Amino acid sequence: MRRRMTKIIATLGPASEERETIASLIEAGMDVARLNFSHGDHDWHRRTARYVREASAEAGRAVAILQDIQGPKIRVGRFPGGELDLQSGATVRIRAGSGETASGELSIDYPRLVEDLAPGQTILLVDGRVRLELEAIADGALVARVIEGGVVKSRQGAAFPGAALQVPAVTDKDRGDLELGRELGVDYVGASFVRSAGDIRQVAALAAPDVPVIAKIELAAAYENLTEILEEAHGAMVARGDLGVEMELERLPRVQREILSVTNRCGDVSITATEMLESMIHAWRPTRAEVTDVASAVLAGTDAVMLSGETAVGDHPARVVKMMDRICREVESGPQHRDTPTIDFLEQEAPVPSATTRSAVEAATALDLDTIVAFTESGSTARLLSKYRPGARVLGFTPEERTYQRMPLYWGVEARLFQRFDSTDDMLSMAEQRLVAEGVCEPGETVVMVAGIPPNQRTTTNFLKLHRIGQA
Ligand code: PGA
Ligand code: MN
Repeated sequence: MRRRMTKIIATLGPASEERETIASLIEAGMDVARLNFSHGDHDWHRRTARYVREASAEAGRAVAILQDIQGPKIRVGRFPGGELDLQSGATVRIRAGSGETASGELSIDYPRLVEDLAPGQTILLVDGRVRLELEAIADGALVARVIEGGVVKSRQGAAFPGAALQVPAVTDKDRGDLELGRELGVDYVGASFVRSAGDIRQVAALAAPDVPVIAKIELAAAYENLTEILEEAHGAMVARGDLGVEMELERLPRVQREILSVTNRCGDVSITATEMLESMIHAWRPTRAEVTDVASAVLAGTDAVMLSGETAVGDHPARVVKMMDRICREVESGPQHRDTPTIDFLEQEAPVPSATTRSAVEAATALDLDTIVAFTESGSTARLLSKYRPGARVLGFTPEERTYQRMPLYWGVEARLFQRFDSTDDMLSMAEQRLVAEGVCEPGETVVMVAGIPPNQRTTTNFLKLHRIGQA
């Protein structure tokens, strides 16, 4: 079967913290390792990041590290005994705070709880499975009716659909985590529970310079502000877990399609996340519905699909990645995949690179070529090519280690480290030798080469050559 274009992000956790397991995930097709900073201490993340780098070097294939920071997630406090059983129809008192709660009460770690919520407000707990309705405010506490009951455990999340809350974009924990991210040289930062472009700027200011920020769209506010958020962020993740609590579940499919299409049109990276192969946490095979869900994300034009619990705490992480890989390839080989939505011509932001890369993809399609070589410093040439959804593979040749590490997230792009040249002719002839040596191309074959020339100067993507191997 043909090579896979859609990229796979796998979350690491207790089930995938060993070096050999990480190597097996890379072997199975993991392109990006997600470190979830809602769990694990700094030693854990330090060690795991090192294993990813080592296993990637051993495999001879770039694997990006996505640092996913926890963000200002609002949670319930600690219950005596660890949980509270809320019976449907009962009333419950809720106080602001994060410590141990009095027996039978609930606390929520949002300081302005009483000031910012009004009777009628819905409060969702346990991923939306437990639903309360705020009835009154009395003695500095909320009084809520349990509409749908259930067992709530200490420190689980709480959501307030539609409420305008004043939450800082980053917490003290996030600051410390972002500092560790700088130390580890992570390739991407995933920003959780952001609401606006300003929130992205705050996260970016704390991350290492130039590290791309992926906006996790998991609050209704983020969905509403998507276009402005994408002006600051490098990409968007359809974070269906929390987004599915924020809005009615039946809205998710349409919202997912819209987030993917808006993100793609802007030329940014799109990711679909959460519960994609959920049953495989334990099961040996996915359900039909899960296979179809992955397929529909691919058909809707997602750049990457993400695994969460499946690889972090599941019974057989590598098997899940292999399954994801097989589904993506099969879908991509079908005719419907050619209808995948592509990006707009980026007339405003990047007219010349946009025109160059789009022409390169059209030429490759017209001539039925197999390979496009992108010479790229920042990776943006490779990303733009990828967003025009070529049938050909894109080989991203870069002298920059950081760019090499970042490109695995780009749809259809394979990263290569390559020397830096002063002369265009030298660059093309060395690239040609490399392609033949790697066995990627045969003498006489035509490839498309895209670059900013003269090389090694601050130029834009302005060069396109139909190059016959053996010609240089
Ligand atoms: P999480 O984000 O896995 O960090 O919660 C993704 C989601 O909410 O879907
Ligand atoms: Mn989330």
